[in-house]
Amino acid sequence: MTAFWAEPDFDAHELVQLVHDRASGLTAIIAVHSTHLGPSAGGTRFWHYNDPAGAMRDALRLSRGMSYKNAMAGLPMGGGKAVILADEQRIKTPEMLAAFGDAVEGLGGRYVTAEDVGISEADMVAVSSRTAHVSGLPVAGEGSAGGDPGPFTAYGIYLGIKAAVAHKLGKDSLAGVHVAVQGTGSVGGGVARLLAKDGAKLTLADINASRAAALAQELGAATASTDAIMETPCDVFSPNALGAILDDAGIAGLDCAIVAGGANNQLARAGHGALLAARDILYAPDYVINAGGIISVATEYLARNQGRIGDIAEVNALVAQIPGRLEQIWQESAATGISSDVVADRMAQKLIGRG
Ligand code: NAD
Repeated sequence: MTAFWAEPDFDAHELVQLVHDRASGLTAIIAVHSTHLGPSAGGTRFWHYNDPAGAMRDALRLSRGMSYKNAMAGLPMGGGKAVILADEQRIKTPEMLAAFGDAVEGLGGRYVTAEDVGISEADMVAVSSRTAHVSGLPVAGEGSAGGDPGPFTAYGIYLGIKAAVAHKLGKDSLAGVHVAVQGTGSVGGGVARLLAKDGAKLTLADINASRAAALAQELGAATASTDAIMETPCDVFSPNALGAILDDAGIAGLDCAIVAGGANNQLARAGHGALLAARDILYAPDYVINAGGIISVATEYLARNQGRIGDIAEVNALVAQIPGRLEQIWQESAATGISSDVVADRMAQKLIGRG
């Protein structure tokens, strides 16, 4: 058996804990990558893995990603992630969530959890019956931080697209700027609505074609098929659906000046950022531009820990710093000839004391 520290995704994680609770049937992995900047924060994924090694890889890779994302968002939080290994039927019980809450509590605040794929707000409420180290709980009232992070993610991406358009195209308005949006769910739909308000020209695509069509009608936008959206001639391609779409073929087909969107892990491999740069396409590193959601989740948690309710204004003030951080990355990239994704990684590594 290969020791997991020989795994390519092991990156001197501070703690990797395997949790098994016989009574409830819970099996989970909690990975704390770094607490250099504060308690490690990152969601819990509930997923069925055919090969459990995939769960370990996800926990290691995603927790490191959270260290980078939280550091670049200017949050006093480290990076962590939990994965609950679902069985084939994906059975999730209150007892399992309670046992998971006990495991999080057992880490004494080194790891703060929230929703990720397969975990709902109601699940987090169940986890919160056993531990206070939870965020993403129902919003406490009008104007309070918390609740669905999607709109905050979308707002940060919108600000990031504006910054990219100013940087690359020299335009201080989005009027008439053509943006092709892949995925019109919580994030992509929110981005499209904000862009439309500024007079951007939009082309929308979603595998749920009726969702894209309804939004296109609402916004006066065009639609494209999911096969065609990446090759749509446009100023900005905004990926807001799947990861790993920027591979050799995907990048070769792009007909845009900028890639800026919220999907996680857009680059299929290290090296694809350089390929975008070689095509003179400005790339907004995904974990920098899509940090609005974690900013909301972290603000909610940090405020609650101080015995108060977080304010939406605090969240928006932090989200408003995203364009400045992107500009810093692009300037350094231009000055050094190093692609923007690598510049961002190096900045993040420095911030977490590993530069
Ligand atoms: P969502 O499920 O609300 O929306 C995703 C949309 O993409 C759906 O409408 C789906 O039909 C569509 N889609 C799936 N495959 C597609 C394809 N091949 N082509 C076109 N459309 C496709 O999810 P979301 O919350 O909007 O998240 C979108 C992306 O943003 C994900 O990668 C997610 O990890 C990332 N993200 C989300 C947040 C957040 O706050 N929700 C934060 C950071 C990153």
